[in-house]
Amino acid sequence: MSLWRGARLTSGLRPQGLAWLLPSGGRGRRGCSSEQESGPPEFYDVVISGGGMVGTAMACALAYDPNLTEKKILLLEAGNKKADGQLPELYSNRVSALTPGTAAFLSRLGVWDHICNMRYKPFKRMQVWDECSDAMITFDKANLLEDIGFIVENDVILSALSKQLTAADRVHVLYRSKVVNYTWPEPSLTPDMNPWVQIELADGSKLQASVLIGADGPNSMVRKSAGIQTMQWKYDQSAVVATLRLAEPTDNNVAWQRFLVTGPIAMLPLSDNLSSLVWSTSHQHASDLLSMDEETFVDAINSAFWSNENHSEFVDTASSMLKTALMFLMPSGTSVRQLPPSVAHIDPKSRAMFPLGLGHATKYVRPRVALIGDAAHRVHPLAGQGVNLGFGDVVSLSQHLSEAAYNGKDLGSTNHLNAFETERQRHNLPVMAAIDLLKRLYSTKSIPLVCLRSLGLQATNAFVPIKEQIMAFVSR
Ligand SMILES: Cc1cc2nc3c(=O)[nH]c(=O)nc-3n(C[C@H](O)[C@H](O)[C@H](O)COP(=O)(O)OP(=O)(O)OC[C@H]3O[C@@H](n4cnc5c(N)ncnc54)[C@H](O)[C@@H]3O)c2cc1C
Repeated sequence: MSLWRGARLTSGLRPQGLAWLLPSGGRGRRGCSSEQESGPPEFYDVVISGGGMVGTAMACALAYDPNLTEKKILLLEAGNKKADGQLPELYSNRVSALTPGTAAFLSRLGVWDHICNMRYKPFKRMQVWDECSDAMITFDKANLLEDIGFIVENDVILSALSKQLTAADRVHVLYRSKVVNYTWPEPSLTPDMNPWVQIELADGSKLQASVLIGADGPNSMVRKSAGIQTMQWKYDQSAVVATLRLAEPTDNNVAWQRFLVTGPIAMLPLSDNLSSLVWSTSHQHASDLLSMDEETFVDAINSAFWSNENHSEFVDTASSMLKTALMFLMPSGTSVRQLPPSVAHIDPKSRAMFPLGLGHATKYVRPRVALIGDAAHRVHPLAGQGVNLGFGDVVSLSQHLSEAAYNGKDLGSTNHLNAFETERQRHNLPVMAAIDLLKRLYSTKSIPLVCLRSLGLQATNAFVPIKEQIMAFVSR
């Protein structure tokens, strides 16, 4: 704090006026000032802290916005730039299921073409079923030629975003630039006070921004430093990921998920003979899965998808009665159960585990600050929504900033930042609540609850308009 007060005294208001404080009309010098250099810290209209998938998408969206061509924009990323060039032969174990809405957004930015030129796998059906009963739900389009989602490696998404960002040549990107301190403008400013957010990097460089966008992940320093409260808890689960080699090549265009009592297990298609595993289970079981030999691990996966040992006879009887009734009442609503492929091997060194949790920032904005992506909300991966929600934030925030620029407004003003917050919380909160409810509903073996959820799942499966609404909502 004192550092910045000092900076303000020495380089704040000058006889020649406030020119250095004003948002720039051009690109100006690219870089940041260190303490040794004279003059005020470099000014940017927008600084994005965190160059993960969401932060880089934000930079890309702003870079191509015609209303922001005069604005100086900076992306800061603590890590190294991902190497360009040849895609590694082995698939990465970190993948995301992207919705058609996300694909449309990335297409508008020109990013989707790069993804298509690297690698991705569309899927046409999703089958979700219960370990304790025969209940299942499937999602597909009436026209089976349409895709309902896409599995893409996170590295491919990031690389495609970076390529398109570089092509715009509008945003200054600093890799290996960790922010170590933020200083916020005083709530009630007097004319001699610095009105901008002050940013200090680990190498001592300093900069200032009209608006700071926190895209720095679930442990967001922007969020903590801005004093924004977070509702959060750790789940009693970790996700084990791995790249799976299937016993036989197939069309492999179905995303499979089974709700086990210990947590959901998902197999997401990558190619004709490869799929990606996301298995959420207790921390202890996750460590055991990581340390077992390959053959035992593969057996555990196959058994998790195929075994019926936790079926309840009572629930099975109730489900089959409902199924018969539904077939009679809504013959078009019942779908055929498919069998998942069996796994033969895993790719070497592809196993890893990640602890899971939920987090939601009570506020996404403060004067001159906005949070996006996991910095604002973190969800369980069971619905494959995390980064899709983050990209939704980018669409909304970039539109509000664009409008503010078009109308000559201060980009850091809470007027349009609040509009972004309202819009996104209205979408994100119901999705987060539904995901958390599903996690809890499927963590029990209690017969009444298993019965209730199985009947509910089957009824939902039979009622096509509800399924279409669910798909439309999560695809946005
Ligand atoms: C097992 C698993 C499976 C998942 N599957 C899916 C899925 O299928 N579909 C889906 O939509 N989502 C999925 N998710 C969620 C998705 O991965 C996250 O939502 C997404 O990665 C969040 O991206 P982000 O850019 O907001 O944050 P991050 O990826 O955490 O990026 C934050 C960036 O900020 C940088 N940073 C942090 N602090 C600083 C600092 N002080 N200075 C500068 N830079 C900083 C970091 O280096 C990092 O690059 C999954 C998550 C897990 C764990």
